[in-house]
Amino acid sequence: MAGAEASPGRTVPRDHDVVIVGAGPVGLLLACLLAQDGIDAVVCERRSGDDPRSRAIGIHPPGLELLDRAGVGSAARAEALTLEGGDVLSRGRILAALTFPEQRRVRVLPQQRTHALLRDRLQTLSAGSLHRGCAVGAVRDEGEFVRLAVDRPAGRQEITAAFVVLADGVHSALRREVGLDWRHRPGRAAYTMADVPDPAAGVRAQLYCGPGGIVEAFPLPGGMRRWVLRGGGVHTGADLRAAIGTRIGQDPEIEDDIQPTGFVAAQHLARTIVRGRVALLGDAAHEISPIGGQGMNLGWADAGRLAAAIREALSRGTSELGGYARETLRSARTVQGRAAFYMSMGAPARGLPLAAREVLIRALGSAPLRTWSTGLVTMRGL
Ligand SMILES: Cc1cc2nc3c(=O)[nH]c(=O)nc-3n(C[C@H](O)[C@H](O)[C@H](O)COP(=O)(O)OP(=O)(O)OC[C@H]3O[C@@H](n4cnc5c(N)ncnc54)[C@H](O)[C@@H]3O)c2cc1C
Repeated sequence: MAGAEASPGRTVPRDHDVVIVGAGPVGLLLACLLAQDGIDAVVCERRSGDDPRSRAIGIHPPGLELLDRAGVGSAARAEALTLEGGDVLSRGRILAALTFPEQRRVRVLPQQRTHALLRDRLQTLSAGSLHRGCAVGAVRDEGEFVRLAVDRPAGRQEITAAFVVLADGVHSALRREVGLDWRHRPGRAAYTMADVPDPAAGVRAQLYCGPGGIVEAFPLPGGMRRWVLRGGGVHTGADLRAAIGTRIGQDPEIEDDIQPTGFVAAQHLARTIVRGRVALLGDAAHEISPIGGQGMNLGWADAGRLAAAIREALSRGTSELGGYARETLRSARTVQGRAAFYMSMGAPARGLPLAAREVLIRALGSAPLRTWSTGLVTMRGL
């Protein structure tokens, strides 16, 4: 039991300093940072097993810095592929070729591996603080502490904490329950994706921004490649190969029997990030289009700020989380603006709009703007 001070002169009993709802990559990173500071934080995760979905692969320099702070940066570097840059193409021509400087290289590691590194690190720092098969059903801010109803296989239980962090993902039901509003932001489209064996994938990404809509090719560690195609309704490997081949004018290495997955890229932002002693974090606070690959990295940056704000609030015995909400909203709007721009660059286009887009991409890849463009795609300033 944490049983710590809530306000000068008064002690309010509570079970933990912090309860984090959701053991995605963002909730886990926050838990590691808090554990390193000696703060009593537990993570409640409703799943009992691992998340089978294939999602984030790109770890940008600000994300890597946070992994370093959490003590898993070296392990992530050792497993990841180092992406040296990327080429933007349209109608058979390279419009822009960006090479990342050594210190701004993007690491490529499937989210399941990043997740496993963070989970193992948390186990080392604070064994038993991750509670799997533990779904939080209700959250109530009582003013001096927060009360949670937690459903475990053994039944419902009540726990209390000084702060509760909702890191329960885009579809957070608790966000609605605590009355935090969720607004649509620009950027929405359907995509199809597949991770396939391809020993010749190399160390650069290719973005084909042709008339039919974008096709992205990213090398993955272990001789694999991720293909992403703008558009839905593609159900087999053969269909995906044909659709990509038509758009890029080459026959990609995709077996007929692989199973592509579809996703809808959308963007949302909570109107308010903090209410009393409850804070939103990661995808629960902001949905970022996967095009541009920045949602998880942004969530880690938020987690770094939130860990500092919680540490400060606990040491001063207040419920104030300082500038966490303001900074999180500011950086999310910036990243959503960038993601909406990337999506517009990959929308189907013909005639004058296509030609104008090609001119813009050439300009962004030209010598005067190249450094700025590289900063943009590697999340400089966030
Ligand atoms: C196709 C795709 C590609 C992407 N690529 C990238 C990329 O390259 N780079 C990047 O930065 N981002 C990328 N993203 C975004 C990234 O995957 C997310 O931003 C990231 O997973 C968010 O992490 P999170 O911890 O906030 O939420 P989640 O990973 O969604 O985790 C939330 C957790 O909360 C748990 N939970 C939910 N409700 C409860 C409850 N009531 N009680 C207990 N537990 C609960 C869930 O089971 C889940 O484990 C991509 C996304 C997609 C879809």
